[in-house]
Amino acid sequence: MTERLQNAELSWQAGSPESDRFGDIYFNRDGGIAETEHVFLQANHLEERFAGLESTSFVIAETGFGTGLNFLCARDLWLKQSKAPQQLHYISCEKYPLKVDDLARALEAFPQFAEGSRQLIDGYPTPVEGFYTLRFDGGRVLLTLLLGDALEQLPRLEARIDSWFLDGFAPAKNPDLWTEALFQQIARLSQPGTRFATFTAAGIVRRGLQAVGFEVEKRPGFGRKREMLAGVMTAPTQTNGESKTRLPIWSLPPEPRKPVSTEPVIVIGAGIAGASAARALAEKGIPVQVVERHASPAQEGSGNAQGALYAKLPAKPTAHSRFHLCGLEYSCALLQPLMQQDPALGDLCGVLQLALNAREQSRQGDIVAADAYPDSLVHAVAPAEATELAGLQIDTSGLFFPRAGWVSPPALCQALLNHPLIQCQYNTPVSDLSCHEGIWQLEGTTFSARQVVVCCASSSRQFSPLSWLPLKPIRGQTSQADAPANLAALKTVVCGEGYISPPMKERYCFGASFKVGETELDVREDEHTHNRDILTRALPELGHALSDKSLDGRVALRCSTPDYLPLTGPAPDLNGYIERYAKLRDDARWPLDQPPAYQNGLFINLGHGSKGLISGPITGELLAAQIAGTPSPLSADLLPILHPGRFIIKNLIRGSL
Ligand code: SAM
Repeated sequence: MTERLQNAELSWQAGSPESDRFGDIYFNRDGGIAETEHVFLQANHLEERFAGLESTSFVIAETGFGTGLNFLCARDLWLKQSKAPQQLHYISCEKYPLKVDDLARALEAFPQFAEGSRQLIDGYPTPVEGFYTLRFDGGRVLLTLLLGDALEQLPRLEARIDSWFLDGFAPAKNPDLWTEALFQQIARLSQPGTRFATFTAAGIVRRGLQAVGFEVEKRPGFGRKREMLAGVMTAPTQTNGESKTRLPIWSLPPEPRKPVSTEPVIVIGAGIAGASAARALAEKGIPVQVVERHASPAQEGSGNAQGALYAKLPAKPTAHSRFHLCGLEYSCALLQPLMQQDPALGDLCGVLQLALNAREQSRQGDIVAADAYPDSLVHAVAPAEATELAGLQIDTSGLFFPRAGWVSPPALCQALLNHPLIQCQYNTPVSDLSCHEGIWQLEGTTFSARQVVVCCASSSRQFSPLSWLPLKPIRGQTSQADAPANLAALKTVVCGEGYISPPMKERYCFGASFKVGETELDVREDEHTHNRDILTRALPELGHALSDKSLDGRVALRCSTPDYLPLTGPAPDLNGYIERYAKLRDDARWPLDQPPAYQNGLFINLGHGSKGLISGPITGELLAAQIAGTPSPLSADLLPILHPGRFIIKNLIRGSL
């Protein structure tokens, strides 16, 4: 099954797009902005609601992202009315995304939104089904695009919506969208006081929204439209089972605690996982105290000079690969503006994945044959094209990811931690964690807090409440050498059996060895030889040029889990889980009816293995959303595969616990 989406097919009338598929317009040709202001902003009372907002976030959801004009108008109003650090989270479904060139062309009509349009175009995801979260304006605005049919994507959304923009073409032209199933999803995601507005006054919409608990009023429409609808949720109905959350009961999140503005959340560990969580929390208005045992951030697994943004995508997408794709897109969109500010941070110069053996050739052949992904995300390249892209001789075919690249993880951690709501305390080792009357004490330090996020890779097991976690360290050594003066510099990241990025400050960093269970940190000659060998198989000229150069080495421990996915979320209470779910030992299908048992206020973000650059930032956002009670940036079907309790459940079913 391919999850690749069809793009919108457009006709252009005086610079304005029209959908060939639906025979309808995207926005009013005589006043797109005025129409959005009238229909969606004013009828939802957004100016007053933004200005008077007491909480730190506001959530808008839309059916039909189209050109993003409604989004840009809402963002503009938000930037004028809200106070930092409040965050607008705008969620929008889109089944037929515009091609990025069409998006740019449509938005040319709105030069007043040039800055927002540029951020949107830079971060716009490739058309593959899933949730994609883009950050705007340094995190004051988040946009989560739910690519795919709204009727399939909304049931995967975990969020509480404050305002709905119902804008999916006229019901007469798009009857498949405006159905009871849609109205039930809108109700599931709404709460008393949630408002909606829509350009249509169709009876089916009015009755559908009334039936699920909205009080609906007719208002004068925009321009030549006589009427439109708006309203407020007053009587939430108990919607049927199908429209309730799809999360398995053992993975239901805890009720978010009201953050106390004077009391920070503590994050232990200042690597990619910790820095990402800290930044996402701070952008949601939550003060953060980072506690780190080393003298500066990124001294362990996130400490290599360079790292590749790398995802191995299969011909048939799986839950794992969908998570990796969302993470890759999230990291690239996060890095784009940071790299514009500081080019030394890294480069989204593209990543080549070489097919260096028969197995990889066959895997890549399957991806090409399945036509599973758009060319703008990944496409096949022959050796000549690979050579052209890399700027150095390559003798094998491969896959090219034009939007990916490399980043310096320590510089990224520094950039993420640079936020007014984040305080960092270095040289502060935590020896254990204990909880007394709801307060977590960081033993060996003076720090304590009601909410603590542990991001210390395999060392997290030294804390008694987390000693049971299934984490395994994997030793990895990278090699560094000066770029040879007589050879052209590499232009893209090249991955095969190992990886290498273009030189940073005229030095190459390449690797890496993979030694499961080994925890020594000494630099070894045989691992340098291994790194040089795998480099030579990928890039013979460069490998030979470095063959007699002395190499520096750096060793760190990756932290992996049995399924190579991270553990992100609330920390389970192991005994509580076992007590509540013990019946699974006898019957894997036992209908569980109790919510999970957590260690109140304790969260973890661990086990990123070698993929921390694509899994760390998105899981940091996920964790912050769980703590703040804001919308999940990931689709609900991906949450159980990251949940820290999943191995308890698997082991109970297997009878090994
Ligand atoms: N709000 C948009 C803007 O600001 O440009 C205009 C939206 S346009 C009128 C309607 C959009 O709904 C189109 O982009 C269309 O592809 C999308 N759409 C239609 N049916 C859909 C469905 N079932 N699920 C998700 N999106 C859908």
